[in-house]
Amino acid sequence: MAWIVRLVEAGGGGDDRGTDLIEIAKPADLRDIANLGLSLAEAKQVLAAIQCKIVTAQARDHAAQRPACRSCSGACHVKDYRQHWIATLFSQVTVRLPRLLCIACGGIESSVDWPSHCRSTPELDRLQAHLSALMTYRTAVDVLEQMFPIDAGKDHETLRRRALTLGEQLRHRPSIALAKPSAAISVSVDSTFIRSCVKDERHLEVKVGNAETDAGGRQVFAAVARSETDFVALIGRTLDSVGRTRATVLTGFSDGCAGLRLTLAAAGVTAPPILDWFHIAMRLQHLEQTADALSTDTPARQEAKAVIVVEADRLRWRLWNGKAKDAQASIERIRAVMHHFRGEPGSRRSIAPSRKLWTALLALDGYLVSQADWTVNYAERHRAGLRVGTAITEGTANFLVNRRMNKSQQMRWTRRGADLLLQVRCAVYNGTFGSAFGQRFAPANDTHPALVAAA
Ligand SMILES: [Zn+2]
Repeated sequence: MAWIVRLVEAGGGGDDRGTDLIEIAKPADLRDIANLGLSLAEAKQVLAAIQCKIVTAQARDHAAQRPACRSCSGACHVKDYRQHWIATLFSQVTVRLPRLLCIACGGIESSVDWPSHCRSTPELDRLQAHLSALMTYRTAVDVLEQMFPIDAGKDHETLRRRALTLGEQLRHRPSIALAKPSAAISVSVDSTFIRSCVKDERHLEVKVGNAETDAGGRQVFAAVARSETDFVALIGRTLDSVGRTRATVLTGFSDGCAGLRLTLAAAGVTAPPILDWFHIAMRLQHLEQTADALSTDTPARQEAKAVIVVEADRLRWRLWNGKAKDAQASIERIRAVMHHFRGEPGSRRSIAPSRKLWTALLALDGYLVSQADWTVNYAERHRAGLRVGTAITEGTANFLVNRRMNKSQQMRWTRRGADLLLQVRCAVYNGTFGSAFGQRFAPANDTHPALVAAA
């Protein structure tokens, strides 16, 4: 069996029989299910053939236009023709356009309103940038090549360049029109680090944030510290885009870094920020997991481990109920039984569970001492239907930055490259990128963090 794909130009007159694009031959035998329907390779051929045909017709009509001379308004005639190569999602196309010569003044015009610098279509640029925001440049090249008949501008450096160009445009994009006014907005800010490829600088600090409205709206934002993106202005723009008015109640959450608290205040979130429950929960979870791994090879250790598990649980309850000042008691009780694990196999190395627990305990202690002033009664807030932190369950920093930019130890970033890619990444998640290739927030990310608390 065989088919011919024919393209007929609508309105081309009754005698236009169209042009045969390609012939597709298929076995009628379906015992091999692989024979069923079009293959990807055939689909790409069809798309590329249609694209070529349509572009040729469009270029023909565009080339027929004869504008008046821009300087003297005199009549123009064709001087010569130039070929323009444009990468599109459906193959690279050639557009043949005339250069025009003014009869009166001798001035040369390029074809009517043709962006002569253009090497690719905006749709291809946006899709490439969109995928680059979600995966490495190299993987994005692979994915696009697998699915589309792309045959130009497909090396990873091109993708990187295009993503950064779009990131630059996003950076300077004015605030999106005011959404419906919001009665309350929670804004959480956090920071993380990525590896730097800049000389004399091992890491770059990345500041991230997440603004959520009481009505369920959400926008994320991020910027590399000391890049050209002004983080304070970015927070302000984000708040405006989710409907901040003078009457909006703003609640700030942070992980206790003084700098970020000042940033929030500068952006207009003037009420003292709350220590994000997410960060406490993460530390508690680490403590519990470490306690879980303790050995129970002697009755004394069994008993000690039981005490530690109970105290860790009590510690969680205390913190959830806003009794951070009493946390010390739990920590002391855990410390008091730790000696039972002395001499545990491997206890002199840092991988031993008891050593890990000790380290986690010290870290948590220090953290709580310094952050106690910023903790609140999370249980009470939760009962009142108020947020206790970011609603992105894995944390905004992990979600926005680490997933894409810290996956491999080999990934190293320039300040500008990381910052611009983050602008694209945020726009993709915020649904404001406009590649019509949507990935907005998955409902799974909206689980309330109180589930993590299990208090
Ligand atoms: Zn002229």
